[in-house]
Amino acid sequence: MPKIHTQEFDTAVFKGKAEFNTGLFIDGKWVDGSDGKTIDVINPTTGKTVVQVSLGSPKDVDKAVAAARKAFETVWGTKTPGFERSHLLFKLAELMEQHSDRLAALEALDNGKTFGWAKGTDVAFATNTIRYYAGWADKNHGQTIETTDDKLGYTRHEPVGVVGQIIPWNFPLLMLSWKLGPALATGNTIVLKPSEFTPLTALYMTTLINEAGFPPGVVNIVNGYGQDVGQTIAEHLDIDKIAFTGSTLVGRKIMEAAARTNLKNVTLELGGKSPNVIFDDADLDEAVNWAAHGIFWNHGQACCAGSRIFVHEKIYDEFLKRFVAKTKSIKVGDPFEHDSYQGPQVSQQQYDRIMSYIDSGKEQGATVTLGGKRVGNEGYFIEPTIFTDTRPDMKIVQEEIFGPVGVVIKFHDDEDVIRQANETVYGLAAAVFSRDVTRALSVAHRLHAGTTWVNCANMLHPQIPFGGFKQSGIGRELGEYALANYTNVKAVHVNLGHKI
Ligand code: NAD
Repeated sequence: MPKIHTQEFDTAVFKGKAEFNTGLFIDGKWVDGSDGKTIDVINPTTGKTVVQVSLGSPKDVDKAVAAARKAFETVWGTKTPGFERSHLLFKLAELMEQHSDRLAALEALDNGKTFGWAKGTDVAFATNTIRYYAGWADKNHGQTIETTDDKLGYTRHEPVGVVGQIIPWNFPLLMLSWKLGPALATGNTIVLKPSEFTPLTALYMTTLINEAGFPPGVVNIVNGYGQDVGQTIAEHLDIDKIAFTGSTLVGRKIMEAAARTNLKNVTLELGGKSPNVIFDDADLDEAVNWAAHGIFWNHGQACCAGSRIFVHEKIYDEFLKRFVAKTKSIKVGDPFEHDSYQGPQVSQQQYDRIMSYIDSGKEQGATVTLGGKRVGNEGYFIEPTIFTDTRPDMKIVQEEIFGPVGVVIKFHDDEDVIRQANETVYGLAAAVFSRDVTRALSVAHRLHAGTTWVNCANMLHPQIPFGGFKQSGIGRELGEYALANYTNVKAVHVNLGHKI
């Protein structure tokens, strides 16, 4: 097993008492990767390694899939009744609640998000998601369908089987819960790959999964890189379904791999460039606060970030003045300091990517109204940044930056803004601010997005589905809708006397 446990890691998370399993989690046990390799986990606040964890390989994916298949056929699937699956999921949620401080500390150390947001949002929402699906585990019934008197027709919602799940680094625990909850509730077994940048909460969850009493092999976690572990999951002939959250670029590869191999069922939650539309009759202070939350929450590393802020020309100047003032008040700093709102970006790679977008905005002639620079001289901190005077063809207007960088764009009327807002390949989310409910709803209905917020932004609940139109994805997570991703509908026809 990997050896490095820095004092910083042990102190921050375990108050000096290390209880962290750094191995791959296969068949209910922690094991080294087959190649004996490890991966360094970097604290983005300092840029230094805090812990090493085992690195998986395609051979480990094979082992995990074999364990998941065996568990599906022998102990899980239809072998464990819904109410027992429900009980285990409730127990897991209870343990997550008990361990919420450690989960939040791991998230802050690994991803750079602030401890306060990690605890209040990520861990709380992840726990509620598991609890929500615990409630569904014994309620996912089929239908009885009437046709003629001599026929009984009914449907069964059967688990799909072994499910591959691949998640990103921006909400490591939350994305894990969105994947595990519905898949386990409906009786599937799982091989999950966390992001190589943020494996810690997934690994910590393995201890809780065992403690909750899930049978070995029901959940397997194989840490590793996308191009080998991820690709092997996507191509695997004994995986029946794949659920992926990440970039649109990799989403295409997942779909291609599934199409090329066993045509496994695919759901994709991908990128976004979400519009935030602020009308002249909006409550301006509320709109400013929500717009700031829309783009700067989680350091702009949210798939649904409201990165294009469209403001009606009548209120544009006043909005910009207040939005700049609000953004200046954002404290960028150590994620463990209680008043930090924004921590570091997740990695050097991501830091470089965001800075190159900021450079491209400048080179293409946009105005940096605020920010645009590095904060401090260690770690990956970037100032919250506002661009104005943009053109629709600029990269900063078209592409997902995935950082604390928003563009503020003036518009003339409803038709103009609807056209501009929809001028993107993405369709994940959108927000509309107006006191006129008819105007707000009619615009919300015309925006091409899987989620539209009215007078708020980035509000998500386990009960409400989430997913994208256009190149933002296929399928829906959360809510009752997510259950369909993980069930096969079987129709049974029973002859009650019809003669041939
Ligand atoms: P990414 O696509 O680079 O990586 C996501 C995951 O895929 C990681 O675990 C990675 O290791 C793996 N991967 C990489 N290459 C692979 C391959 N060839 N085959 C299989 N797996 C591979 O994304 P990221 O940088 O980790 O996350 C940011 C992206 O995620 C953004 O585009 C963001 O919008 C998106 N996202 C979407 C949602 C949503 O619900 N729609 C939620 C969160 C993040």
